[in-house]
Amino acid sequence: MPTTNMPNRDHNTTALDDHLSVTAILRYLAALLAGLLKDNPEWERERRHLQECRLCADAAAEHLGHLLWDSPDWDLLEPGEFARRAQDVWITRLQHDDRAPMREAAALQLGTLEPLSNHGFRVLLDAAVADRDPEVRFAAAQALRSALDSEDLLSRVQLAAGS
Ligand SMILES: [Zn+2]
Repeated sequence: MPTTNMPNRDHNTTALDDHLSVTAILRYLAALLAGLLKDNPEWERERRHLQECRLCADAAAEHLGHLLWDSPDWDLLEPGEFARRAQDVWITRLQHDDRAPMREAAALQLGTLEPLSNHGFRVLLDAAVADRDPEVRFAAAQALRSALDSEDLLSRVQLAAGS
């Protein structure tokens, strides 16, 4: 989550340490959802920053997810498409984030997604046995249990084992 509070309309800097404020991200997403971004130079700084900064791009993806979940009016994605994209975000974070608390949070989020893909299942399994941080291993195991609660346990394990 970006922590700085940059003025939203500062076009003079593209330095990556000047992260987008939450307000700036929400305004950008609102413009995106309203179809106002295309070829609009007003949003150039935000667009460029989101292309270059994974932290802010992740934050934007999370906010977008909440916006889409919380509003019945948005019908932008195919059924299942949001779940797939959210899953990709969490899988990437669980596999590649250097910070253990972020991996732990990603593992727990994966456990709440339905349906969990076989890929997501394998990634959780990997994290549960092989992550270097015990908290992350515990969170991944917990997430696996909650994912399996709603599925046929045996078939999932067989799929994960590649049988
Ligand atoms: Zn940033």
